[in-house]
Amino acid sequence: MPQIYSQKDVNKKALANARIAILGYGSQGRAHALNLKDSGYDVVVGVRKSGASFAKAKKDGLEVAEPTEAVKNADLIAFLTPDLTQKDLYAEVIGNIKQGATILFAHGFNIHFKQIKPRKDLDVVLIAPKGPGDLVRRQYQQGRGVPSLLAVFQGGKKAKEIALAYADGIGGTRGGVLTTTFAEETETDLFGEQAVLCGGATELVVKGFETLVEAGYQPEVAYYECLHELKLIVDLLHEGGMTKMHQFISETAKYGDLTRGPRIVNKNTKKEMKKVLKEIQDGKFARQWIAENKSGRKKYNKLMNADLKHKIEKVGLKLRERMPWLQEERA
Ligand code: NDP
Ligand code: MG
Ligand code: MG
Repeated sequence: MPQIYSQKDVNKKALANARIAILGYGSQGRAHALNLKDSGYDVVVGVRKSGASFAKAKKDGLEVAEPTEAVKNADLIAFLTPDLTQKDLYAEVIGNIKQGATILFAHGFNIHFKQIKPRKDLDVVLIAPKGPGDLVRRQYQQGRGVPSLLAVFQGGKKAKEIALAYADGIGGTRGGVLTTTFAEETETDLFGEQAVLCGGATELVVKGFETLVEAGYQPEVAYYECLHELKLIVDLLHEGGMTKMHQFISETAKYGDLTRGPRIVNKNTKKEMKKVLKEIQDGKFARQWIAENKSGRKKYNKLMNADLKHKIEKVGLKLRERMPWLQEERA
C-alpha cells in the first residue's frame, strides 16, 4: 500500500500567511477558493471581468480581480480554468508571477503534454481531487473530504509540503492524499473519464435504454431501469465495493450479473480499452483534442448536440420533474 497522507502529516508552516490566487471560478475553482478561505487563507479569485464568474465570486464574499492582477504578490497560483484555456492564461499572467512562487494544477494535462513549460524558478505541483467541485465543497462543509492525488513536477521537499498544505486547506487530507506523478495522474484521469466514468457509463446506459425501447417497451420504464436505478448500484459500490452491492441485490440479480455481465462488457471491450489507453499514452488523444479546439470544436459540438437530443434526455426531463429533490443538492 502506498503512503496516504492525512491531516496529521501536514506542515502547517508550509503555507502560513500565504496569499493564494485561484484562477477560474467554475467547478473546482469555486470549491477550492471557498474552502481555502474558510481554512483561514488569504484568497483572491482571478477571473475576467467580462465573464459571469466575476460577479459570482464577489457575491460569495471573495476578493476578485482580473487574472493578471490577482497573481501579483501571490505565493501560490492555482490554474483552475478549463484545461485548454490554461496555456494562454499562463502566458498572460506569467510576467506578474513573483520569483519562487508555486503554481498548482488540478489535472496534469498541460504540464504532461508540454502545453505549459513552466519557468524554472517556480515550484510546480498538482492536487487533483478525485471528485467534482461541488462535492469538494459540500464534503468540506460537512467536515469530510474528497480523496486527492498529489504530485510535484518541479521543486523539492518544500513544494511537496506546500501541495499537502493546500490539499489540507481544501479538505483533501480528511479523505486521504496519495502521491503520484503528473504522468500517472494525467493518463489515469483521462482513461477513467473516457472508458469508465463518463464515456463508458453513459454509453452503457444509452445502449441499454435503446435496446428496451426498440423491443417495444415503454421508454419511461426503460429510463427508470437503465438510468435512474444506476445510482443505487453506484452508491453501493462506492460505499463497500462489489461485496456490499451483492449484499443488497437479489439472488436473481446476482446470477444475472455473474453470467450475463461478462457478455456485455467483454474481451473486445477490454481490447478497445487498451487502445483508448494507448492513444492517451502516446499523445494522440491530446493532439486531437487540442486540434479540435483550434478548429472551432465542430465535431465536438455535433456530437454533444446529438447526445443531448437523444430520446433518453426528453423522457428523463419529464420524469425528473416529479422528483424536484433531485435538484436540491447541487448548487
Ligand atoms: P470549469 O469549466 O468549471 O471552469 C470555468 C471557469 O473558468 C469559470 O470561472 C470561467 O470564467 C473560467 N474560464 C473559462 N474560459 C476561460 C478563459 N478562456 N480564460 C479565463 N478564464 C476562463 O473548470 P473545471 O473546474 O471543470 O476544471 C478546472 C481544472 O480542474 C481542469 O484542469 C480540470 O481538468 C480539473 N478538474 C476538474 C474536475 C471537475 O470535476 N470538473 C475534477 C478534477 C479536476 P468565466 O465566468 O469568465 O467564463
Ligand atoms: Mg478529468
Ligand atoms: Mg456518452
